[in-house]
Amino acid sequence: MAAARAAGVDALLVTFAPDVRYLTGFTGSSGAVALAGGKAVLFTDGRYTAQAKAEATGMRVVVGQGSAAVQAVGWLAKAGVVRCGFDAAQTTVTALEAMKKAVPAKQRRGFLAPLEGPVAKLREVKDADEIAQMRRAAALGCRLFGELLEYLEPGAVEAEVALALEVKARLAGAEGMSFETIVASGARSSLPHGRASAAKLPRRGFVVLDFGVVLGGYCSDMTRTVHLGRAGRRERAVYDSVLEAQAAALAAVRPGTACGDVDEAARAVLRRAGLDKAFSHSTGHGVGLEIHEGPRIAAKQTQPLQPGMVITIEPGVYLEGEFGIRIEDTAVVTETGCEVLTRASRKQWMEL
Ligand code: ZN
Ligand code: ZN
Repeated sequence: MAAARAAGVDALLVTFAPDVRYLTGFTGSSGAVALAGGKAVLFTDGRYTAQAKAEATGMRVVVGQGSAAVQAVGWLAKAGVVRCGFDAAQTTVTALEAMKKAVPAKQRRGFLAPLEGPVAKLREVKDADEIAQMRRAAALGCRLFGELLEYLEPGAVEAEVALALEVKARLAGAEGMSFETIVASGARSSLPHGRASAAKLPRRGFVVLDFGVVLGGYCSDMTRTVHLGRAGRRERAVYDSVLEAQAAALAAVRPGTACGDVDEAARAVLRRAGLDKAFSHSTGHGVGLEIHEGPRIAAKQTQPLQPGMVITIEPGVYLEGEFGIRIEDTAVVTETGCEVLTRASRKQWMEL
């Protein structure tokens, strides 16, 4: 609420599902939290009566009809709130119109104030319980990667490799995957987001595997690139450059360092190798309840790292029509540097 007060509002409306979950523990699809005068109330609808009471323990839960956001706004207006902040990026124009109508006409002017992700900022720094959960998710991802290696053989279909991974993840207790699994082999490995397709793994060539599991609500994220058959000198040289860039960026992670400087640490290594133009995305991103959240580990980002932030470091090189390589770890920023959470699986050169 301190940030909200600084923004000139005396109440906050939270409707984005990951934010609602973060604040209350409630995981249903329809929820809104009203924060005002030191009180927090969760609004939902009849489908979630039992679930909301079970998950949002110790919290006042109001079960009403229709949109939870509209209910919450109506309640805030009645409570005498003057100006209520809401998350502009997570509110549709239609929802905003409905919310406005829930405010009596004489109170309506200036009542709803758009804010930029008021809860997203809080979520960037994880507490000990969240870090423990993310450590478990990362460890599961590493274990599954180890088990997946036996499926990686010439002729195997990318989509089947992805499916085998996803079945294993669900059997191991994951609620789902963090995002659509990437299995990109041969020339397809040069697509930074090559979703698993009907393509078959080649006799010789790279396979990029980028995936994550959701465990206890928290996402894991890791990428490993392996080579089927004997690799040529150039393939090895490029792989080593990516690995060196990744190590350099990880070594730059510590409290106070600007996110842009971490990005530059990776980019500088690839620049020296003449590969920086083939590194077509940013170095990493925050991860937590969402697969992509703050902070952004990208060029020119001045935001300093803080202990408890969980970020990915994932430089890659993509040579169109030839091959691509990406190596990604998830790490938590500590008081002195960082702890890699996905360390249980090797990322040294792997020829299968
Ligand atoms: Zn990834
Ligand atoms: Zn990632």
